[in-house]
Amino acid sequence: MANYDYDLFVIGAGSGGVRAARLAALSGARVAVAEEHRVGGTCVIRGCVPKKFMVYASEFAHSAKVAEGYGWSESQASFDWKRFLAAKDREIARLSGIYVTNLNNAGAEVIHGRAKLVDAHTVEVEGKGVFTTEKVLIATGGRPWLPETLPGVEHAITSEEAFHLLELPKRIMIAGGGYIAVEFAGIFAGLGVDTTLVYRGANILRGFDDDVRAHVTDEMKKRGVKIVLGCQHERIEKTEACIVNHMNSGAAIETDLVMFATGRAPYTAGLGLEAAGVKLAENGAVAVDAYSKTSVENIWAVGDVTDRINLTPVAIREGAAFAQTEFYGNPTTFDHDMVASAVFSQPPVGSVGLSEADARHKHGKIDIYLSRFRPMKTTFYGGDERCLIKLVVEQGSERILGCHVVGPDAPEIIQMAAVALKMGVTKPQWDSTCAVHPTLAEELVTMREKHVPQGLGAAA
Ligand code: FAD
Repeated sequence: MANYDYDLFVIGAGSGGVRAARLAALSGARVAVAEEHRVGGTCVIRGCVPKKFMVYASEFAHSAKVAEGYGWSESQASFDWKRFLAAKDREIARLSGIYVTNLNNAGAEVIHGRAKLVDAHTVEVEGKGVFTTEKVLIATGGRPWLPETLPGVEHAITSEEAFHLLELPKRIMIAGGGYIAVEFAGIFAGLGVDTTLVYRGANILRGFDDDVRAHVTDEMKKRGVKIVLGCQHERIEKTEACIVNHMNSGAAIETDLVMFATGRAPYTAGLGLEAAGVKLAENGAVAVDAYSKTSVENIWAVGDVTDRINLTPVAIREGAAFAQTEFYGNPTTFDHDMVASAVFSQPPVGSVGLSEADARHKHGKIDIYLSRFRPMKTTFYGGDERCLIKLVVEQGSERILGCHVVGPDAPEIIQMAAVALKMGVTKPQWDSTCAVHPTLAEELVTMREKHVPQGLGAAA
């Protein structure tokens, strides 16, 4: 047997890499993790966590309006972006430190620097040396994708820079319709920035249920976000006074800051994958099997770099399954079915399972249960925000195929719904669950009337 420096070399200390490295090291394996930036990866440093802090920060302006309806007097509260950023950076540093400590305590060695494969068993870390290893795990995540050929795109920022703006702009234009674009639109609008969201498609949040997409669009507009759909960018022009976005419709949108949130791509550039013989899929992701093994016998890949479901808990579970398989003699795959997700828009979305359209396509006959209503907190102060709750049920088996919630706490609610859907819950079982009153979520277990979507009539 060859005498390697390590049993496992992990490239990338993000969600997937850290979990795999920690578990492998706890089994007694000699593990190294290379990280070119900060330990914690996208989620902790420039993704889920700082984004959620920004969502929290931005919600207070709306809460203040609601508070007036509950008898509180108008206060002269003001928001200090710099103070918020400093507090956010302190907390991120604390969390990143915990990741480092956990890796150290498990016995994994963190090597700071950019790593690349020299061959299937050799990794070079810039400025740190060349190391041999029995196994390699690629966990390098993804990167924001920008339309590089768009004239003037260099004037645009991405989500990476949005976490470090020196000051808040007066106006922002966000390009994109995915969850990151939608979340940042809510954040900036909540913080008082005049916000325009521009998306080339027919509606935002592609992939989510159509009723959810329409509902979120309406609610975001109520919160002051301008949403421009069906428009492409032709060129971005920086003048002395502002930035002008020229659209293919002939319209020109003047703004102070442009942010592109037009998707993310697997981060494989310069990794030496060719030298090691690792094959990529057509979309540029590292191709893997159900055990996250690549085309090379001793190399695996987990997380966003494999572009399966690009969420932190999924990267963690893929990393854990890899460690179980390779270091605990317990062959494990992660089941990518019924993974719940949230959009921290304002109001937020929680979703698990199939959209109505996908369920019709895959299962044929389905029943829909749908409720749109003003929650009691809103009716009290005369607000006009509405919630949406929707169940997609297979006819015959009565299995619930999808559950979608838009409204306060939807991401918290959907976590528990996901348990039931993952277990294959049927509508009668679901309905036998007694409601919790008075809550928004009680509506989930009290919907008895089937909803007939417009235009489907008896064919539904
Ligand atoms: P990452 O966490 O990206 O880690 C990869 C690491 O590898 C990075 O630290 C990188 O610096 C390092 N690296 C890359 N190449 C090299 C190299 N050659 N050498 C050394 N190090 C290298 N997911 C959710 O579940 N919920 C959310 O609310 C959510 N919000 C998000 C918001 C934003 C703005 C973004 C961008 C993402 C969000 N995500 C969210 C997605 C989530 O962050 C990712 O799915 C998750 O971080 C993927 O983990 P990973 O281990 O695959 O990669």
